[in-house]
Amino acid sequence: MDTSSHSQDDRLVAEGFHAAIHEAVGKLPRIGWGETFRFKCHKGLSCWTQCCRNPGLFLTPYDVLRLKKKLNIKSAEFLEKHTATVLDPQLGLPVTRLLMNKDGACPFVSAEGCSVYADRPTSCRIYPLGQAASSGVEGKPGEHIFFKVEEDYCKGWGETSVWKLEDWVLDQGAAEYNVHNEILVKLAFHPAMGEPGAIDERKLGMIHMALFDLDTFRKFIFETTFLKKFAVDDETLAKIRDNDEDLLRFAVRWLEFSVLGSPTMEPKSL
Ligand code: SF4
Ligand code: SF4
Repeated sequence: MDTSSHSQDDRLVAEGFHAAIHEAVGKLPRIGWGETFRFKCHKGLSCWTQCCRNPGLFLTPYDVLRLKKKLNIKSAEFLEKHTATVLDPQLGLPVTRLLMNKDGACPFVSAEGCSVYADRPTSCRIYPLGQAASSGVEGKPGEHIFFKVEEDYCKGWGETSVWKLEDWVLDQGAAEYNVHNEILVKLAFHPAMGEPGAIDERKLGMIHMALFDLDTFRKFIFETTFLKKFAVDDETLAKIRDNDEDLLRFAVRWLEFSVLGSPTMEPKSL
């Protein structure tokens, strides 16, 4: 599946990185709630911004929402300019990678640091840790797993500040992001996602549009026959017309109905 207009090379690179990340995560040292690590990142370190050259930087739907808002552009333009999307065979969902510049650097890095800092993606917030969601029993999401990335070039690990995992997650704003990211976890671990052939190309396109291309999804609701087919109350309509967070929550509701067959929408009788 290629839901972006980027080259086949981009797509293959993304697939390769995603497979490598799955493999690497299993080997990295875990860190649990209550455990500590020593780390401090600051401009005085020789490695300043070296970590902002990650060709495997994957974005969640909420990351895309925040970044396109920060850049004051539509989601379709953001996706076209800055991302490549592939299907993750293990999740059965589209995953979207932030494209680095030709020189390997993040398009948002400057000499001063991150130019989108307040809206930086989840994985930039968690770094120098990483996180993944484990699969739970009976199709339910399992727990969040955190692990230490500890790259050789990152001098922050030699610094003296001591962090508890939970304090780091809160301090970096990752806890707030993870509330929104749960949307993806909930979908990924829905029992219907695991059924062979359940998610075809058409459904994958719908998932990608609804989760990542929110401005196009809004048009799909308000500028097609959508509202002739589904009953949506006025309060919800007012919210999703203006608010992207509400629209993202509504997107999941619609995907649960249209892709997973849950009774989360009310079809109108024609
Ligand atoms: S978004 Fe910001 S923190 Fe993340 S890689 Fe780019 S410049 Fe670095
Ligand atoms: S200390 Fe680590 S996280 Fe901070 S700039 Fe250096 S490489 Fe990046």
